Amino acid sequence: MSLSQLARSIAESPTLKLNEEARILREKGEAVIHLGIGEPKNKTPINAILSGAAKLNSGDVKYTPADGIPSLKKAIIRYTEENYDKLVAPQNVIVSSGAKQSVYNALYTILNPQDEVIIPVPYWVSYPEMVRMCYGVPVFVTPEDGGLYPRMSEIEAAVSQYTKAIIINSPANPSGMIYPPDFIAEIVEFCERKNIYAIMDDIYHKLVFDGKVAVPAYRYTTKDIESSKLIVINGVSKLYGMTGFRIGWAVASREIVEVMNNVQSSITSGPSVVTQAAAEGALTGIQGLVESLRLSIQNNRDIIVNELSAFDGVKFSKPDGTFYIFPDFSAYEKDSLKLSQFLLKKALVVTVPGKEFGMEGRLRLSFSGTVKDVTEGIARIRWAIDPKSPAEIYIGDRRRVRDWL
Ligand code: PMP
Repeated sequence: MSLSQLARSIAESPTLKLNEEARILREKGEAVIHLGIGEPKNKTPINAILSGAAKLNSGDVKYTPADGIPSLKKAIIRYTEENYDKLVAPQNVIVSSGAKQSVYNALYTILNPQDEVIIPVPYWVSYPEMVRMCYGVPVFVTPEDGGLYPRMSEIEAAVSQYTKAIIINSPANPSGMIYPPDFIAEIVEFCERKNIYAIMDDIYHKLVFDGKVAVPAYRYTTKDIESSKLIVINGVSKLYGMTGFRIGWAVASREIVEVMNNVQSSITSGPSVVTQAAAEGALTGIQGLVESLRLSIQNNRDIIVNELSAFDGVKFSKPDGTFYIFPDFSAYEKDSLKLSQFLLKKALVVTVPGKEFGMEGRLRLSFSGTVKDVTEGIARIRWAIDPKSPAEIYIGDRRRVRDWL
C-alpha cells in the first residue's frame, strides 16, 4: 500500500504499546504489575468532577474557541501568576487536548523543514517523533560523563546554523532529575544569545521531592513575554492525576500563540468543553490534593530507592521529582529491550526499555502505582535477574521457582 514515508517511519508509542500488552495479559487473568506507565492512581479531584458534570448536565456541550474557554484560560493565567510569578494575558495562553498536543503544536508552529531541535539525552520518547513529524531533525546531546543530563558545553557544541529550538523537561521523564537553577539560567541566556526557542516542558513541575524546586525559566529571562522565545508547557495529567481528561496548555508570546491557535483550529479545534470545565475545576478547587499526591509519590520514591538498593549490580540516581526512576541494569543485561521483554515474560512486570529514551542498559520504572505494586514489582525483578535473591516467589497465587540463573 502506498502510505506516507514519513508517517510510516514514526514509531509506535512504546509506553502505549506496553500498556496494551499488559492489558491483554491482565484480561487473560495474569497477575501483571505495571511499572511502565506514568499515571497516578488517585481518583479525579472532586472539584474537577463537579465542574465537568455541571457542564454535562447543562446539556450545552458545543464547540469552544480553538484556544480554550475564557474561564479556563483565566484559571491558567492565575496558575501562571501563582507558580511562575509571571503575569500573562489570555492571548498568551492556548489550551490543547493534552500537553502532548501542546508540544506538537509548538514544534509545528516554529519549525521549517530541516530545522534542528536539540534534545538532551535521556529524553521523553515522544519528542524525537514529534520533531520528525514536523519535518525537523532531532539533534541528541548525550552526556559524555555518563550522567543524566549534558553539560552546557556539550549543548553549545551541538548548535548549528539550523538549530531552531531546545526542549527541556524538568523534572525529567525518564530520569526524575531536576535541572539545577544554574543550568536553567545558562539555557535561557544561551537561547536568548543564539535566538533559539526554548520549549520548557513543565508537566511535572510540582511533583518534586525533599524540598527541591524546579526553577522556572521565566526567572532568568531578560525579555518580556512578547519578545521571549520561551514556550512553557503544562497540564493537569500528572499534577492532578487527570490523564484521561486530555487537557494541557502552552504559555508563550502572542505571536506564537496566534499561530498555534490557527494550527489547532485546523486540526482538532478546541478540546472538549466538558474536560476543559473539569480542568478549570481542578485548577480553581482545593489544592491540598496536589500536595497529598506529591507526598504519596515521594513515599513511593523512598520505597523504590530502598528496594533497588538490595540489588548488588543496579546503579541509579535518586529521583528529585516525577514518578520515574531510571536505573542502570547493564551489570545484568546490556540490551534494555531484551531485559524488558524478559521481565514481562518471566516476572509479569511491565518496564520501559532505556533504549526508547536514548540510553541503553537502563530501564524506566514508574512508581506512580500503589506501594504494593512498587514493592512486589521490584521483588519480582530481583527474583528474575539477581542470583543472590531467593529462588522462590509467588506471582499471583502461583509459586514460581527460578530455573534459569
Ligand atoms: N511531557 C512529558 C515529559 C510527559 O511525560 C507527558 C506524559 N507522559 C506529557 C508531556 C504529555 O502529557 P499529557 O497527558 O498532558 O498529554
